[in-house]
Amino acid sequence: MAVPPCAKARIEQTLANRLLAALGPADRHHLLADAVFVELGATTVLGLGGTALAHAYFPTTCMISLLAPESGDKRLVLGLTGYEGVYGGACALGIFSTAFDAVVTGAGQAWQIDAGRLAAHGRSSPALLRLLSRFLYVELRQLGTQAICSHFHSLRQRLARCLLMSQDRMRSSDLWLTHDDLSQMLGARRAGVTVAAGDLQALGLIRYTRGHIFIADRAQLLTQTCACYFQDQTIYSQTMWTPTPAEPANGTKLPHPQPGPPTRSAE
Ligand SMILES: [Zn+2]
Repeated sequence: MAVPPCAKARIEQTLANRLLAALGPADRHHLLADAVFVELGATTVLGLGGTALAHAYFPTTCMISLLAPESGDKRLVLGLTGYEGVYGGACALGIFSTAFDAVVTGAGQAWQIDAGRLAAHGRSSPALLRLLSRFLYVELRQLGTQAICSHFHSLRQRLARCLLMSQDRMRSSDLWLTHDDLSQMLGARRAGVTVAAGDLQALGLIRYTRGHIFIADRAQLLTQTCACYFQDQTIYSQTMWTPTPAEPANGTKLPHPQPGPPTRSAE
């Protein structure tokens, strides 16, 4: 039977988020019965650090920046979330506050769900809880990567990484980002960002005009970034998609690992 156009579009919108796509059909259906599909414009504020979350968001085409709470006129982006993840997924674990500000930096669409309803779904769906817990672990690891990257790697490397991450999340080589956006994302002065972007443009890897960046040569841009970009991808794929060892069919629990003798760390 042919799927009506509106229903077909709804299925495509659902599967456009990787976490929703990974849920079983029944869990996904129940979750989305409580969700609405929303358009989010650039600069929309979704949450403020230290306050209660009203909604969680499963992006399909938008990109959300997690920012350190405002300190004077300086902002620092700590993470980016797009169709591969969720913002506010901790609600499913009963945690309704957020440590960071969340702002839409790439306009697009997302599934929005009430925080309390997501908590209820987390209680009733072990698969959803497992998926969102794993994504929280990914975010934790990526925050660690971000701290290392900001401290040790060059601005040009970090700019290349930021552009690649944005391209991944927006699924587009056209990025509507200003130098101020990039300056925030990198926690760097605008003048330094302009120089680094000029270097990448001189190499023919990007083309930028006011408020717009086009990634012209992704393969070569990959050679300009640091290992952090690849490490984040490995953490995501290993954490999210590695199967959990199955328990025996007779219902007996797998034995917990027993502590072994102390080992010497490598010197
Ligand atoms: Zn780095």
